[in-house]
Amino acid sequence: MFGYRETWAEVSLDAIAHNVRAIKAGIKPSCRFMAVVKADGYGHGAVQTAKAALEAGADRLGVALLDEALQLRVSGIDCPILVLGYMPPASVEAAVKHRIAVTVSTREELEAVMECAASHRQHADVHLKVDTGMSRLGVTDRETALDLARLAASSPWIRLEGIFTHFASADSPDETYTRGQFRTFLAYIAHLERHGIRVPVKHCCNSAATLRFPEMHLDMVRVGISLYGLLPFAGPVPGLPELRPAMQWKTRIASLKQIPAGQPVGYGCTYRPERTSRIAVIPAGYADGLSRRLSNRGSIMIGGRKAPIVGRVCMDQTMADVSAIPGVRVGDEAILFGCAEKGCLPVDEMASRLDTIHYEIVCTVGKRVPRVYL
Ligand code: PLP
Repeated sequence: MFGYRETWAEVSLDAIAHNVRAIKAGIKPSCRFMAVVKADGYGHGAVQTAKAALEAGADRLGVALLDEALQLRVSGIDCPILVLGYMPPASVEAAVKHRIAVTVSTREELEAVMECAASHRQHADVHLKVDTGMSRLGVTDRETALDLARLAASSPWIRLEGIFTHFASADSPDETYTRGQFRTFLAYIAHLERHGIRVPVKHCCNSAATLRFPEMHLDMVRVGISLYGLLPFAGPVPGLPELRPAMQWKTRIASLKQIPAGQPVGYGCTYRPERTSRIAVIPAGYADGLSRRLSNRGSIMIGGRKAPIVGRVCMDQTMADVSAIPGVRVGDEAILFGCAEKGCLPVDEMASRLDTIHYEIVCTVGKRVPRVYL
């Protein structure tokens, strides 16, 4: 990027540092804090986010893919990193070489790490994944968990550092399912301990569980979305730390024109104003992650006031009706989501218009949109 783009995403590293400290204030000092920076730090930039989180007190990082872990390593990040997702056997060698901890759910996965670690005479950390109700990765019975734990213990090159599970609905007001998953997870741990296997890092909490269920923190929490200042459930909830959204998506008005009543706007002529209208063009479109499903539905904010998106969102440009906002000029800043001096357009609003969650919105702000770090 050459710096000429007038659509950008501001990322406040201070907000990320604040969020780490605020969440850490609610966990016991012995509990580790994993900053989850997969998907390029939920769209915020993995390396920058990781560095800010580590400096503010995170102990380690979690990613979904080995490639993401390697990107952090080549950027000079030396802390423990765990790949939370599936790792193809062919990539295990690179993981071991770069001291990336591997998640295993099957004997084949564990054997691949064992063989690789033994043949390179290099130690490897593994975390055993337990499926307690998400029906995604993980072993589904205690005997298999015990077999794998024993197999890991048989190798001098493997350290079974962790055992973990993932909650399916920790954000739901109904706690029943999460409490059931937690009980099941504790039963796995107890089964291993009855057979003499103690795993040092037991973990199950994502952001929602970290914020709602302190009794489930165990030895580590894995915080993703709230690191970026977003609540995983409808808020505000009394007693929760005050989080600061780290990303604001901004642009500038590229063009303004007056059009008569009935004059179509955009591809497909899907919008015709009822009266003479002032139409602003912004240089952002679906190639930037501004969903085409916001056509005639979404809003932008200018000077603290909302302007409806009119016509279809184009690949690189979008039109908004600014007739109700006096004094708008070419070059004025417009907010796609986030806060400005005069008001906020929360990312949740765009998410709810798109019938999705804010996770998806921040992750899909396009690569063409430069991130500007504050
Ligand atoms: N742990 C695992 C295994 C995950 O897959 C994720 C994200 O999906 C997280 C932790 C972080 O979740 P959240 O962003 O809800 O905090």
